[in-house]
Amino acid sequence: MSELSKEVQVVSNILKANDLLSAELRREFKSKKVYVINFMGSPGAGKTSILESLIKELKDNVKMAVIEGDLYTSKDAERIEKQGIPVIQINTCGGCHLDSTMIKQLLDNFPLEGLELLIIENVGNLVCPASYDLGEEIRMVALSVTEGDDKPIKYPAMFQRAKVVVINKIDLIEQTNFSIEQALGDIKTINPGLEAFTLSCRTGQGVPELAQYLLEQIKKKENVNDA
Ligand code: MG
Ligand code: ZN
Repeated sequence: MSELSKEVQVVSNILKANDLLSAELRREFKSKKVYVINFMGSPGAGKTSILESLIKELKDNVKMAVIEGDLYTSKDAERIEKQGIPVIQINTCGGCHLDSTMIKQLLDNFPLEGLELLIIENVGNLVCPASYDLGEEIRMVALSVTEGDDKPIKYPAMFQRAKVVVINKIDLIEQTNFSIEQALGDIKTINPGLEAFTLSCRTGQGVPELAQYLLEQIKKKENVNDA
């Protein structure tokens, strides 16, 4: 076997192991009736700021918690903690994505009982987090206008399996060449079912709409589970 195909074999085994464990996680989340969002996007897309805005909108109506994935620091977790909801930090020590083993290990010390919504902020990266299922109900991707409207077409895997895309920093769009039409057109080509929201964490524009959408999804799920 060549070096390259050995490497390909190893990667595919890792992904297979991840998928087995994520299926187990998905069953556990379902049985505990927790709606789980795997939240992804580039570094600096504004994932943590979007989370802060969403928590303010949702925390009185939904029992929620956050898992913060980060390379080395707990900076984002500290910001979430200030919002008064449970948060737990995973440091990947340089690893560029979260995998289901990390989530599984952490859940042993993190009670899911009574929780309705768990948002996992993944490591900032538009590439490999897309390959690692974490047992989530939906994937949400943050794309800021400062990154450029070519990101969906350049990183299609990230958008293919997502349910929601949040186009962030919309207040800065006049300072950029970002075309909403271009980005949305490409997104619809990659994934026609993707729900798109435009948002600004600085002005609050679009935050209530996104919060309302997520709330409806969670309630819909609860009703299905109760039936
Ligand atoms: Mg962050
Ligand atoms: Zn990675």
